[in-house]
Amino acid sequence: MHGWDESTERLAREVVELALNRMRMDPPLDHARTLSELRAAVGQTVTPGGLGGHEALRRFDEEMAPACISTDHPRFLAFIPGAPAEAASLFDLYVSAASLYGGSWLEGSGAVYAENQALRWLADLAGYPEGAGGVFVSGGTSGNLSALVAAREYAKYKRGSAPRRWYVVASEEAHSSIQHAARVMDVEILDVPVPADGPEAGRLTGPAVRAAFATLDEQDAAFAIVASSGTTNYGVVDHLDSLADVADEFDLWLHVDGAYGGAGLAAPSVRHLYEGIERTDSFIVDPHKWLFAPYDACALVYREPRLARAAHNQKAGYLDAIQTETDWNPSDYAVHLSRRARGLPLWFALATHGTDQFTASIEYTIDLARYTEQQIIERPEFELVRHRDLSVVVFRRLGWSPEDYSAWSEHMLDEGIAFVTPTKHRAETVTRVAIVNPRTTRADIDLILDSMAAWG
Ligand SMILES: *Cc1c(COP(=O)(O)O)cnc(C)c1O
Repeated sequence: MHGWDESTERLAREVVELALNRMRMDPPLDHARTLSELRAAVGQTVTPGGLGGHEALRRFDEEMAPACISTDHPRFLAFIPGAPAEAASLFDLYVSAASLYGGSWLEGSGAVYAENQALRWLADLAGYPEGAGGVFVSGGTSGNLSALVAAREYAKYKRGSAPRRWYVVASEEAHSSIQHAARVMDVEILDVPVPADGPEAGRLTGPAVRAAFATLDEQDAAFAIVASSGTTNYGVVDHLDSLADVADEFDLWLHVDGAYGGAGLAAPSVRHLYEGIERTDSFIVDPHKWLFAPYDACALVYREPRLARAAHNQKAGYLDAIQTETDWNPSDYAVHLSRRARGLPLWFALATHGTDQFTASIEYTIDLARYTEQQIIERPEFELVRHRDLSVVVFRRLGWSPEDYSAWSEHMLDEGIAFVTPTKHRAETVTRVAIVNPRTTRADIDLILDSMAAWG
């Protein structure tokens, strides 16, 4: 099993060729199969004697791969798609092959150096100070959790004791991972309502937080405000500057969830929406969403990493971890120890193409979202639900029932044409497209809208 011989050489060529073919082709959209379909087609693959690499690969390629939707398909516009650049996917092959350990400077200094340059690019885009830094974790969920754990430890340290219940302040439109983090941490959420309509629709602002805060009995029981820089459903960027005012006033940690929308920091056409991010304490951006890297990666950046280190270092006590200056160990900045150097695919694409190309690719998708929004406004069959901040467009197909939305959506997936799913706006069923893929074209958008217009 270990050792490189002729059969390994053959298998290597087959596996690498399969990977390269997947990258070369326009992938079919594909769709899920049921468990019984997969059982019938694939059978048992883990056996005492082994299938041999050729056969295991054949079954994966022929039966299992087609049962995975291609998230990088140009007409996959549901949820938040992914759109890795070739350079990023190619280097991911190397990261696995080299079995890199990215947890400590001692074991992975070269890889950590490269990852930190990618993090520095993001920190600079946000206007964070020189001392800022962080780590790549598996996704926005663990990035948000890790930041909130750091925030609470810091609050506990400042306060000297714990209140009866801790609170984190978040918009009602915050991502479900914030609720999940609160459950894991056993803290309460102070849910702040946001306006349903008008120019500030969906946007959390400082005054709204201040008003909600007044209802708390124990104001020093709150330890953080979570803002979104691109809500998942609408792509709305919260009003970071006025939230930073409130965070200052009440001495709270301000964390920005930019899992999807943080990438917009690199796009001059929308950069003004993020004003105030330079005053926040931490933020996340998922390279696997809008920064052209494969799954899974979330960049987590802290203004003052020593505060995160104090919460996450698995050896030192709180004060030791705050005070000791040692090597940069990525494990010290999140809920994990062993880690893949998962920031390297992003770093390699950045190093290969340069940051200007990232800006151009993000701007292209924003421009396509602008085009989509214009089409929705101009075509009589459609109506815009809410004006777009970034690259998510939410709209209604006039005259459709909730069943029409699902039937059309299922039909498009079954036919391998597009993946566009219904969503909820308040209680109403509507639909949305999230555009993050530079391979998506105006013709793709036209095809989808034409099909919706002709349906039903
Ligand atoms: C996707 C998303 C998350 C969760 O990120 P994962 O990488 O899926 O864990 C959190 N917040 C927002 C705003 C998101 O769009």
